Amino acid sequence: MRTDNAAYVERDLAHVWHPCTQMKDHEHVPLIPIRRGEGAWLEDFEGKRYLDAISSWWVNLFGHAHPRINAAVRAQLERLEQVILAGFTHEPVIRLSEALTAVAPAGLTRCFYADNGSSAVEVAVKMSFHYWRNVGRGAKRRFITLSNSYHGETLGALAVGNVDLYKDIYKPLLMDVITVPSPDCYEREPGESWAEHTRRKFALMEAALARHAHETAAVILEPLVQCAGGMRMYDPVYLTLLREACDRHEVHLIADEIAVGFGRTGTMFACEQAGIRPDLMCLSKGLTAGYLPLSAVLTSEPVYAAFYDEYVKLNAFLHSHSFTGNPLACSAALACLEIFRSEDVLGRNRALSAHLGERARTLQDHPHVAEVRQRGMIVAAELVRDKATREPYPWQQRRGLTLYRHALARGVLLRPVGNVVYFMPPYVVTPEEIDLMVEVAREGIELATCA
Ligand code: PMP
Repeated sequence: MRTDNAAYVERDLAHVWHPCTQMKDHEHVPLIPIRRGEGAWLEDFEGKRYLDAISSWWVNLFGHAHPRINAAVRAQLERLEQVILAGFTHEPVIRLSEALTAVAPAGLTRCFYADNGSSAVEVAVKMSFHYWRNVGRGAKRRFITLSNSYHGETLGALAVGNVDLYKDIYKPLLMDVITVPSPDCYEREPGESWAEHTRRKFALMEAALARHAHETAAVILEPLVQCAGGMRMYDPVYLTLLREACDRHEVHLIADEIAVGFGRTGTMFACEQAGIRPDLMCLSKGLTAGYLPLSAVLTSEPVYAAFYDEYVKLNAFLHSHSFTGNPLACSAALACLEIFRSEDVLGRNRALSAHLGERARTLQDHPHVAEVRQRGMIVAAELVRDKATREPYPWQQRRGLTLYRHALARGVLLRPVGNVVYFMPPYVVTPEEIDLMVEVAREGIELATCA
């Protein structure tokens, strides 16, 4: 049997329907079959290597095939691969819940599990609505969300998100939400600081809360970075102001830390940079260091207590997924937290992100780069047609795709979101590898903007 790349591509395209993909693109865009991964690198069936500069869709923290995580999953596999979590429990889920509540913002003491990010958002949305119903305030059933936000692809998560590309077509199926303009600092006025712009934008949130609090269960947002919305960033002061306003208006704050949690923004959780505790916090992706599908919603004693009652009152949260709290996934998550505990990951990341930022900011001089922005281990460059007016390239031109293909040819996996090229590498990346990915991005930007 043939084992070259083409053979796998042919068999794949006969049956696999890929996510987030116009399958017809694969008539001219190569599909890359991956044989193995190690550290920050992926390798195809012909031995060509690719630097995983986007952590395999922002999930991978410590590289592929990490010895400690491999060993933990292997050991768990010998004991128990899966068991129902209703009526039964197991050691990895108990230990993980202890470990998560120990690292999370103080007061988040209860963990509810699901198996992917979108499902965690569904859980948080349902839990918030149900909480208010259980405490006799059933009118609070709407959600406030930010423009340009992204919370996943299932119908509830899509409804509270706001990226048109993914949402528009399904609008007839979605619940109605209250959308407030994002504090996105790309839109700040000349000379305005991030904090000033963010504060100014908060007035719109305050107005929405004042108007809708009586019918609103929660505000949901991505703390500090709107990742799928093009790595748009804002100042932590927004979270500080929002926490105070949510308390005052009796509205929950749901922090979707699915992409930004676990050290991505420089602190373990992005919310820490504002010193706040959300009412519900969604985690996934880096939760298992990117190994296995798992998600969690962490919440507080008061929320938990509102569901704790006699069965016949039907106040319980009856949400479930077959693979809730899977032991293998929990063992990967435990190994991940163990690495955080035993190694100075955040300290190391500070040095890496300083280097990444310094190198990436050299892209700023390019005539078609409007901005290079950074928050911790996320750095993004915004490509525009006209730097002076910031007029964007029409999306139909798919400039990012040109860059993506160039990077692949050069052995780097960069996957721009529209006209935004970004770096979000695993934390094991070296300064030399950072130099390589920035250099390849520079070439790709040149190629993508030359005509
Ligand atoms: N929320 C955020 C902030 C995300 O970035 C994502 C995934 N990109 C999700 C939710 C959805 O997670 P999943 O893809 O695991 O459903």
